[in-house]
Amino acid sequence: MILMKVNLFINNKEIEADSYTELKDPGRFDDVVGYVADGNANHVDQAVQAAYQAFLSWRKTPLKEKISLILQSANMIENAKSELAEITAKENGMLVDRTKGEIAMGIAGMRNLADLAETAFDPQQMEDEAGWVTVEKRPMGVIAGIVPWNAPLVLTMQKIAPTLLAGNTIVIKPSPFATMGVTTLLKKISGLFPSGVINIVHGDAEVGSALTTHPIVRKISFTGGGQTAKMVMKSAAETLKGIHLELGGNDPAIVLDDADIEEVVPKIVEGTFRRTGQFCFAIKRVYVPRSIYEDFYKKVVEVTDAYTIGHQLNKNVTMGPLNNRQQYTNVNALIERMEKNGANMVKLGKVLEPNDWDKGYYIQPRVVRDVQKDAEVVTCEQFGPILPLIPYDSVEEVIKLANDSEYGLGSSIWSSDSERALHVAREIEAGLTFINGHGQTPLGLKYMPFGGVKQSGIGRENSTVVFDEFIEYQGINYHK
Ligand code: NAD
Repeated sequence: MILMKVNLFINNKEIEADSYTELKDPGRFDDVVGYVADGNANHVDQAVQAAYQAFLSWRKTPLKEKISLILQSANMIENAKSELAEITAKENGMLVDRTKGEIAMGIAGMRNLADLAETAFDPQQMEDEAGWVTVEKRPMGVIAGIVPWNAPLVLTMQKIAPTLLAGNTIVIKPSPFATMGVTTLLKKISGLFPSGVINIVHGDAEVGSALTTHPIVRKISFTGGGQTAKMVMKSAAETLKGIHLELGGNDPAIVLDDADIEEVVPKIVEGTFRRTGQFCFAIKRVYVPRSIYEDFYKKVVEVTDAYTIGHQLNKNVTMGPLNNRQQYTNVNALIERMEKNGANMVKLGKVLEPNDWDKGYYIQPRVVRDVQKDAEVVTCEQFGPILPLIPYDSVEEVIKLANDSEYGLGSSIWSSDSERALHVAREIEAGLTFINGHGQTPLGLKYMPFGGVKQSGIGRENSTVVFDEFIEYQGINYHK
């Protein structure tokens, strides 16, 4: 791959920086992936000012034209899928095919929103003998979009489409651990839009904080961890900005005693280890009835043992490395503490490239059995390849255990009886509940508001609901 130098992008212009950060492949430390321009508070100000100037005319652009540009963007991204997948996989460690899937999901999301936008901004009008009222939806202004490293492309597309369709302009700050793919994607599509509609500033906390405190930014759409979200919320307070937070989860998978073990276990294992366990709504705790526990455990071990661990661009690999040193250290430290406390844990999978094992953030998947309901691996957002199996005795008990968490992003129920599963689903405190799967079907992607309850977030993405995040209502009342 050609070594890339990735500049900032403001007002549809490449902006060089005083310094560049070298980005290394998390699966092969010897490989430099590219050089990323370091942004600063001054760049943030330039980007926000450019976005504001663009907003003054973009807000008046007819909806039809906005929809057409989003659809053209989706086509453009589709044509660049392989290139974008390779750049992103190389920098963030996700499997290249998985990254292509992520892009496909983002494209579908953009097309869904373009379709839903057709009627989403219609005013509501009414009249009586005293007067008439029109309730209109107005754009907010400049939106700050802050994205994490784990699914950077789809999460960026999920912010761009609704923001621009609603008539706002945006400044995107990608994660320092996944900058190149996001910036390449945005540069490709931004030429379709007037200058300043899409702007990109790279950096971490300093640049993030310059964005979240900038007085012209009206709303922050943030996807990332809870600790950062608290800082974002505090900095938004100073200028009373709106906040939209998509945060982490601790998703329970509840297996009912009528579940077909052969059928559900491969799906539960995949829902746990997808992206090496590094996705916000990964299954992080699996509750299994004591009556089927032994058979379930055996099948989980068999399926997990089939994983092949190695470099993300190797076509034979089914589990790539972790994304960064902090992640790697955290997950290894958790495993060490569990071992010290006598956890009944097995290390599984096949190491495909043993000679390169120490040159990447590789961890073999673990399955832990007979886990206590309050064990650390059950209560934290571990964000790594560990699958804890917790036995339970009654449905009432398992509902209580599933809800006993400050997180509430995703969840899943596994059963051969759809009515029974739906009954349990309605008792779960989560933004998303899946039955016999852990992820959205195409219909779910289009119509399910995506987001979490409790400390898993504020607000929603996807579906028509997301447009409400990026508009203000204006009521106009005529007195007859
Ligand atoms: P993070 O919170 O460390 O970083 C997220 C983003 O915030 C990055 O771009 C980072 O540079 C930026 N940032 C850091 N400090 C900031 C500050 N002071 N002000 C403003 N921005 C700042 O998260 P991460 O490690 O990149 O991502 C993993 C987390 O994201 C996990 O908790 C995961 O569950 C969550 N996540 C949630 C969703 C969702 O849709 N709910 C999706 C993906 C990931």
